[in-house]
Amino acid sequence: MKIILLGTGDSPGTPVIGCHCKTCEDARLKGWERTRFSVLIQNKGKNILVDTSPDLRTQLLKAKVDSVEAVIWTHSHYDHFAGFGDFYRVQTNVNVYTSGEVHEDIERFLQFMKYRRIEVESYKPFEIAGIRFILGDVNHPPLRKAHGVVIEWKDFKIVISGDTNKDLPKTTIELFKNPDLFIVDSIAPEGFRLRKHMNAEAAMKLAEEIGAKKTVFTHVGHFYPPHDEASKYYPLGHDFQTFYFDEEKELDSFF
Ligand SMILES: [Zn+2]
Ligand SMILES: [Zn+2]
Ligand SMILES: [Zn+2]
Repeated sequence: MKIILLGTGDSPGTPVIGCHCKTCEDARLKGWERTRFSVLIQNKGKNILVDTSPDLRTQLLKAKVDSVEAVIWTHSHYDHFAGFGDFYRVQTNVNVYTSGEVHEDIERFLQFMKYRRIEVESYKPFEIAGIRFILGDVNHPPLRKAHGVVIEWKDFKIVISGDTNKDLPKTTIELFKNPDLFIVDSIAPEGFRLRKHMNAEAAMKLAEEIGAKKTVFTHVGHFYPPHDEASKYYPLGHDFQTFYFDEEKELDSFF
């Protein structure tokens, strides 16, 4: 099994249109970018997406994905669902998993599309292509519902926090415990006071609390210094960073 961070940016992505801060200028100059949020899970030729980024078309072409088995939506913000239409025209038989509330909210935007709507309840496992998934509720105001995603395959556990602030329900903290990999929302460095997201300090504290073996930051904004500099101090993810999980290998050698 393989997990690819297709997009590790926040909602405007980096560089931000019209922004000339040090980080955005560094991105333009050196040609790097952070596209919007999607995670690709590949197992035995099947492709599963956690969220459908507005940048999905270019992400799927670059990842050489021919068809998508299933989509899981974490919440109803534009930067997490808007790219769904990018493969809808070429593929209409896609199963889409999320809670009833998130389905309802996204359907208002995608009312002209029909897809296989699969409603799942938080904390109840479901299976896609031999992988176990569990949604947990997180806290992303003002949304009434937003989810993190637990992925279990063989002996591995991977947790995607989804967009969330640091005030997670206790049940979710329990659900998230002891992952091999924690892919966590950390939009800005410490010192930023945030209502909807976590800063680096809160993300690391949560990683410690749940006992994550490895942590990678995603949903990263231009508030951090340029990538080369910031990645010396923070476990910043980058677009197309890939994590390999192989049952044959030792636990610590799958990265
Ligand atoms: Zn977001
Ligand atoms: Zn900027
Ligand atoms: Zn969001």
